[in-house]
Amino acid sequence: MITNIPGYLRIGSQRELKKACENYWAGKISLEKLELTARQLRKQHWETLHQAGIDLIPSNDFSFYDQMLDMSMALGVIPARFQELQRSFANPHCLELYFAMARGYQKNGFDLTALEMTKWFDTNYHYLVPEFDESQTYGLQCRKSVHEFKEALQLGIRTKPVLIGPVTYILCGKIKSAGITRQALLSRLLPAYIELLTALREAGAEWIQLDEPSLVTDLEPADTALFQQAYTAIRQALPHQQLLLTTYFGGLENNTQLALQLPVDALHIDLVRAPEQLDDVLAALPENMQLSLGVVDGRNIWKNDYTVSTALIRRATAAIGEQRVMLGTSCSLLHVPYNLDDETALDPAIKQWMAYAQQKVEEVAALKQILAGDETLLTINRQVMDSRRTAPGIHVPAVKARLAAITEADFSRPLAFAARQALQQEKLQLPLLPTTTIGSFPQTVEIRQLRSNLKKGHITQEQYDHDISTAIREAITWQEALGLDVLVHGEFERNDMVEYFGEQLEGFVFTQNGWVQSYGTRCVKPPVIYGDVWRPYPMTVDWSRYAQSLTDKPVKGMLTGPVTILQWSFVRNDQPRMDTAFQIALAIGDEVKDLEEAGIAIIQVDEPALREGLPLRKKQQGIYLEQAVNAFRLSVSQVQDSTQIHTHMCYAEFNDIIAHIAAMDADVITMETSRSQMELLEAFAQFRYPNETGPGVYDIHSPRVPSVTEMSKLLHKAAALLPVRNLWVNPDCGLKTRKWPETEMALRNMVQAAREVRKEL
Ligand code: GLN
Ligand code: ZN
Repeated sequence: MITNIPGYLRIGSQRELKKACENYWAGKISLEKLELTARQLRKQHWETLHQAGIDLIPSNDFSFYDQMLDMSMALGVIPARFQELQRSFANPHCLELYFAMARGYQKNGFDLTALEMTKWFDTNYHYLVPEFDESQTYGLQCRKSVHEFKEALQLGIRTKPVLIGPVTYILCGKIKSAGITRQALLSRLLPAYIELLTALREAGAEWIQLDEPSLVTDLEPADTALFQQAYTAIRQALPHQQLLLTTYFGGLENNTQLALQLPVDALHIDLVRAPEQLDDVLAALPENMQLSLGVVDGRNIWKNDYTVSTALIRRATAAIGEQRVMLGTSCSLLHVPYNLDDETALDPAIKQWMAYAQQKVEEVAALKQILAGDETLLTINRQVMDSRRTAPGIHVPAVKARLAAITEADFSRPLAFAARQALQQEKLQLPLLPTTTIGSFPQTVEIRQLRSNLKKGHITQEQYDHDISTAIREAITWQEALGLDVLVHGEFERNDMVEYFGEQLEGFVFTQNGWVQSYGTRCVKPPVIYGDVWRPYPMTVDWSRYAQSLTDKPVKGMLTGPVTILQWSFVRNDQPRMDTAFQIALAIGDEVKDLEEAGIAIIQVDEPALREGLPLRKKQQGIYLEQAVNAFRLSVSQVQDSTQIHTHMCYAEFNDIIAHIAAMDADVITMETSRSQMELLEAFAQFRYPNETGPGVYDIHSPRVPSVTEMSKLLHKAAALLPVRNLWVNPDCGLKTRKWPETEMALRNMVQAAREVRKEL
């Protein structure tokens, strides 16, 4: 039986790639040094998989920034605005252009905004959205995947190059010129795509993996036709190339026939998310097609239950024979951390239930061994699975009882929004178009150092508290000087908006090295929710109270919402996800209540990940949204009507869920809109969204400083769409990844823009 890994990690177990890229951007290391780091990482990854005995080892799963951007570079999908920059480079396919498209470019007389970024299906990974326009000519432009295949070959490893499939690539992109249909676009792109496949074939690739996760989503009939068109053309051009069509993140459902009709040699399916699809696929699998079973979870950190997996695999082998079955992880391991062995501080009782990428690869190998007759591995695994069902902390009766006692009234505030708005205005006395920020300020080396020194015991709690207080005090003075209306404390004490809370709640454990990539060089370290969640003591009250004591302006309390905590954690898989969300909501609700009691008049509960939890299939979305909105409401509804509840969301598209956003009934919602030029607000306008909104006027993902005029224009655009008295002025998101000087310039411009627009309206 062949073992198959759809993709491995790339950032480095010590985040080497992150550091190298950032140093390269800062001009601290050369391109050669950056490329050396990349080469070393690729080698390590290939060798890890090779040593574990994996047969189909991925290549081109490495990326300096994002695999979708890699495809755009490969095929020449360069947006019109970057083409002049491209011509200005000696090497037109160079990394310089690549990073410019990823991060924006404000240098040598150019001022180019980055590609839009959005979530990769239902993950917390963000890709750069391809932009298709009239001006482009396609062709094999960047041979990265070929180089990497050859690089592995030189190390003695014949890899399986991984590409985003042509249809998913197009469906995940945006057509910028009117009149281009997807079908026409595909016809134009296919020759380039085929050129790429041909180059890989000529380099010696036996298998090529084409990722088509859009096959687990609801497809329009026209999209279905794209699959036929693409794969027929590819097969015609490369009649003998072995193609592995790869799906993940869900079941094929009504696309099963479509997938099975495509002229490919093997199909990979996700049996962790959708084990029920196995029988349908087996029943209709064409005789010349192999089936790759994704049985080891690529999206979560729990140890595989071998009893469950072997049963699935045996069903497949019984139906189609061992020769046609491959065995692997459900999806790329990009979404889990490197190696559990690096976790030296984890409670061993909990650690024994977990597996990271390295262990998951070993699990795939172990499953193969069990199927070959090794019973001991199975027995040991059964014991571990049993211990998890009964261990202390997993089921806490008091938490279960509180959850059972929730009533309808717990989800609503006493008064409706209009009445609350009047009370809040009376209390807060804010100007028209109030200015604020989303919460975090630059996390400088000193601030990070401070936290790490406390963790390592190099400084006392008193010293730490003193230094954090100083940072907060300086931030308050600085915001007052800038003239912002609603201030924040700056979140200096937080490493990450979820981990910070996870560390203080029961039912969570946190890891030392559990990093996963979020976008580009940004990584997050999700906590692990292993048991029932509750809050033993207040988490943010002291810092908020202190910040508020320094100023007469309101300082927002700053919390992360239940859905986001859920979404950005590794969640236990032994009870429904939403039960866990409601437990978190009760804990956050306790904090909201305590903040109010401490005199905090505005409390922001961030839910940037609300949409991210949206099931990929429409028919499951309604119930999810209802429950997610309820979890949010449960966390904020216990306050007085004069207390203003904010929420914040980023890089989301709201058009289809606007009714649910409204149902959250936050007094104010701030959100990312600048990169898409306020496109998002149109949905709010159409819906006649009743509450207050703060559409972001400045893109915080890039160091670029937006001008006053630019932001004024966006404000005018917003004012044309929504009632002015309901509008706020703020950046797209928190500023933790920025540097102070650019932040100061940008916020000064932002306050100025608000002042000017106030006069003009
Ligand atoms: N309050 C958080 C911050 O400013 C929000 C971050 C987010 O939405 N991702 O950092
Ligand atoms: Zn945000």
